[in-house]
Amino acid sequence: MKSKKILVTGGAGYIGAHTVVELFASGYSPVIIDNFSKSDRTLLDGIEKITGKALTFYEGDCTDRQFLNGVFEKEGKLEGVMHFAAYKSVGESVEFPIMYYQNNINSLLALVEVMKEHQVNNLIFSSSCTVYGEPDSIPVDEYAPFKKAESPYGATKQMCEQILEDAVRADIDLKVISLRYFNPIGAHPSAMLGELPIDKPNNLVPYITQTAASIREKLVIFGGDYDTPDGTCIRDFIHIVDLAQAHVKAIDKLLGEGISDGYQYYNLGTGQGISVLQLVKEFIEVTGVKLNYEIGPRRAGDVVKTYANPTKAKNELNWSAQYTSRDALRDAWAWEKRLRRLNT
Ligand code: UDP
Repeated sequence: MKSKKILVTGGAGYIGAHTVVELFASGYSPVIIDNFSKSDRTLLDGIEKITGKALTFYEGDCTDRQFLNGVFEKEGKLEGVMHFAAYKSVGESVEFPIMYYQNNINSLLALVEVMKEHQVNNLIFSSSCTVYGEPDSIPVDEYAPFKKAESPYGATKQMCEQILEDAVRADIDLKVISLRYFNPIGAHPSAMLGELPIDKPNNLVPYITQTAASIREKLVIFGGDYDTPDGTCIRDFIHIVDLAQAHVKAIDKLLGEGISDGYQYYNLGTGQGISVLQLVKEFIEVTGVKLNYEIGPRRAGDVVKTYANPTKAKNELNWSAQYTSRDALRDAWAWEKRLRRLNT
């Protein structure tokens, strides 16, 4: 039997690339799109090394309908789409809000239109726990309301979910699962694939590993005076491979038993809240490396505390996180060391 083709936008990015590996492992045929605006081509080599498969890849921008049309025409029958291609940094979105709205909203609109033109009806959308804003209570389940987004990035994810929900209501054939990620960290355990920001990292763990590798002078922890036990923000750090595997479970469900409603959404986290400072200390413990860090001012746009109640994903997708944050930090460091050819 021919394996099912899944289009993966942003497939050369951090989450997309790890998901491509898991799609291959589960017998799917991923078709990758990326424009390398925020990703590095070498991740594609990593996928090939891990899987031993030749990749089907198109370079282009998801806001470009003509480009998307060309890919859909060339590929013929696609069973579904996973849409990872988007900007993802809270801090950057505060600085460049229009760029975030322009890219994240327009790419989704173009993609859904082109999917419909080609009768492709199954979509997995990369959403985020930022849709909940600053939640009233933690852990956060899927019934928590969307509070005002703390950043333009979070607002784009709220808007995209609204667009998808409306599109599904108007179209009986369209089926969408939004996966609300908490904080994906770590790397593939082979150290062949990991997070590779194209310039100065915005996210915590690549900043930690680059500081440990002496590429950055010092990690600044953004805010030590929050209303949390140690004063730093609390997050739910989930191993990237766990997150990638959840996508396979979600597409299995969409293409298999289906979803009860045309639109479904799941929190993807471990269910454990860890502070930024705790994570930094775990990194030092797990790796034994020295890390230059200090507590600095708060960063605009940050939610103070959030972690997931992942029960819905467990019950309906038969998925739960298997790795710990320590595993993820060990793997992130192994990846950084391999990348920089370090022997420490
Ligand atoms: N963070 C930090 N220093 C950094 C980068 C991030 O203290 O150099 C903090 C950030 O303020 C937040 C947490 O780490 O509390 C996670 O941030 P990240 O950008 O990785 O993910 P987010 O939660 O914003 O999606």
